[in-house]
Amino acid sequence: MLVPGKPPGHTRRMNLLFANDTPGAYPPSWYAETAQPLPESPPLRENLRADICIVGAGYTGLSAALHLAQAGFDVAVVEAQRVGFGASGRNGGQVGTGQRQGQDWLERHAPADARALWDIAEAAKATVQELITTHGIDASYRPGIAYAERSAAGVAKAHSAAAHLAREYGYDQIEPLDRAAMRGLIGSDMFVGGVIDRGAGHLHPLQFALGLARAAQKAGVRFYENSPVTRVENAHVLTEQGSVRCDHVILACNGYLGGLNAPVAARVMPINNFIIATEPLGARAKTVLTQDIAAADDRFVVNYWRLSGDNRLLFGGGESYGYRFPNDIAAVVRKPMLQIYPQLKDVTITHAWGGTLAITMNRMPHFSRNGTIYNASGYSGHGVAMATQAGKMIANAIAGDATQFDTMARLPNPRFPGGPALRAPLLALAMTWYSLRDRIGF
Ligand SMILES: Cc1cc2nc3c(=O)[nH]c(=O)nc-3n(C[C@H](O)[C@H](O)[C@H](O)COP(=O)(O)OP(=O)(O)OC[C@H]3O[C@@H](n4cnc5c(N)ncnc54)[C@H](O)[C@@H]3O)c2cc1C
Repeated sequence: MLVPGKPPGHTRRMNLLFANDTPGAYPPSWYAETAQPLPESPPLRENLRADICIVGAGYTGLSAALHLAQAGFDVAVVEAQRVGFGASGRNGGQVGTGQRQGQDWLERHAPADARALWDIAEAAKATVQELITTHGIDASYRPGIAYAERSAAGVAKAHSAAAHLAREYGYDQIEPLDRAAMRGLIGSDMFVGGVIDRGAGHLHPLQFALGLARAAQKAGVRFYENSPVTRVENAHVLTEQGSVRCDHVILACNGYLGGLNAPVAARVMPINNFIIATEPLGARAKTVLTQDIAAADDRFVVNYWRLSGDNRLLFGGGESYGYRFPNDIAAVVRKPMLQIYPQLKDVTITHAWGGTLAITMNRMPHFSRNGTIYNASGYSGHGVAMATQAGKMIANAIAGDATQFDTMARLPNPRFPGGPALRAPLLALAMTWYSLRDRIGF
């Protein structure tokens, strides 16, 4: 648990906010190299008053800030590092359809809300598009994600899920693909078919985050960077050098929450994930992805990839379950990349970075409200659209319409067994088991 005053060295090392990155700096990602940075905002060094104080400047916090400012609230955002420093500035950029769990799962586990949850997920994709258009955000959005399967059973399941969405939800953007069609799209012999979802898409994640921040600043939001929040007491947010008194606090910390709020920390567990960028592939890029789409496979530790604007392969995946990033991220991620694309073995890896996301027991996000404190986190790798929508849902709830927020908050969200001390070893065990299943193919 972080306490007021300067955290001792070991506390900083044990907190994912500080464990794997240079303080106050973006990771060495292709995104950070190609984004238009924002001027640095000052640290919080005074005692302020605001209507709303938001802890964390990723999609959740930025979207909440923007929507609240547009609704007339006075908003302060307090960020431990830089705007978009967390998962929002480092992710695979895939804007997926639906919730993290499929509609079949939701129909079984939340039958009364399955339809509303689908509608929220569709609204999330629309919100991303609308924000990009309205605020002129240069996030290079492109439609299309292919989901590639390694087994005939996987293909049958994916085709049947697509048919279910078309029949029950009127969603007709998913096209079934056989082996040849998938091979034609993603240039790998590994897969036997799958689907392409033209209603999903991909974007430059850090540009999207910075664009949201610019829009929020224009709407009057005050930003404080390099200001780790050490304590939240009801409506009082404290950093090492300042504080904000407010009516509502929004915890938008996701995988970097640490011990800031015990009930949330019990339900939301951080895990690390990694991405590499190759050198520009030139004409070879078209042998990897014949269209400007993103792709993901069916593994438990999912591999996901797409091309950058300058024709690099951006590839995410690899196995590593420690708290610290591996020393050689490039070597860890290059392995699955070469399993899918052996033809790239002579290609140089130019960038490699890691990031921390958060998962929940049931892989659905955790939304909660405790008195004055709102939380949305644990998007389980499906947060580009959903975290953006979460910010909007919290803003709407504060402004008086909690319909969507309550639908998300009604989802059962069990605590991880064993408390924070046991969570990491248990997760490592579970992940090893599942990745072993991936390897031996059952
Ligand atoms: C490598 C990787 C790949 C991913 N790929 C995809 C993908 O392709 N598609 C998809 O949908 N999702 C993906 N995700 C998940 C997605 O990025 C996240 O769900 C989403 O960005 C969460 O946004 P957020 O604002 O809640 O959290 P974050 O973006 O992590 O922001 C949290 C912020 O809170 C700040 N913070 C935390 N604690 C404090 C504190 N005490 N004081 C002040 N500030 C604090 C942090 O510094 C951080 O900036 C990926 C994640 C990773 C790491």
